[in-house]
Amino acid sequence: MSDTKSYLKANIEDVKKRIAEAALKSGRKPEEIKLIAVTKTFEMDLVNEALELGIRDIAENKVQEILRKYDEAEGSPTKHMIGHLQRNKVKSLLGKVDMIHSVDSVRLIEEIDLRSKERDLITDFLIQVNIAGEEQKSGIDEDGLLQIIERAKELSNVRLRGLMMMAPFIDEEELLRTYFKKTKKIFDSLKNLQYNNWDIDTLSMGMSGDFELAIEEGSTMVRIGSAIFGKRDYSK
Ligand SMILES: *Cc1c(COP(=O)(O)O)cnc(C)c1O
Repeated sequence: MSDTKSYLKANIEDVKKRIAEAALKSGRKPEEIKLIAVTKTFEMDLVNEALELGIRDIAENKVQEILRKYDEAEGSPTKHMIGHLQRNKVKSLLGKVDMIHSVDSVRLIEEIDLRSKERDLITDFLIQVNIAGEEQKSGIDEDGLLQIIERAKELSNVRLRGLMMMAPFIDEEELLRTYFKKTKKIFDSLKNLQYNNWDIDTLSMGMSGDFELAIEEGSTMVRIGSAIFGKRDYSK
């Protein structure tokens, strides 16, 4: 086995073990939590090694990178768009990913619906909420969330699956927990929505630095980059 492959294998095993432990600690089944490998800044030869090692889901935060890289993905993984999405990029993105995590406006979901209709697709999406009210992060507050839902229920080519949140980069465990708890509470209230056969089953929260806490508080999908692939180098 190549050196990169053995460290990837060790990292993936470690992350999976920690996911399972966090799940069990909170009385949940490990298989309720889906692991997504965040591939940003890493090239496809490395990503394909991770796919060979059993990763089934991959994510990027830029449309341009999805278009440049993801056609080379081997073994037909499920693909996710997790970064801020501009309306003028929606058309080129559709058909290239299975789920969009970052819907944060009515105009964006209208554009996704329009372009999905043109291509005869139904696009799965999550609404990104900004629970901590951080100015530098995308995502909307609870009022904005309701506006998107009100509009999306009239649209036939998009399907709401749940919520995505990104926690602040802080060390205070108790404060992080309150953000995760608040998101879970909103998620639970959405589960009762039955429009358009929406199947609300996805709570995307937790990254390399905080995924165990997120799982303990109810996450169903964790987005892990550096704990799998190593530190990112943005200078390249
Ligand atoms: C980069 C990124 C991640 C993964 O971050 P790590 O800390 O490397 O695990 C998760 N979610 C989003 C939206 C990201 O942009």
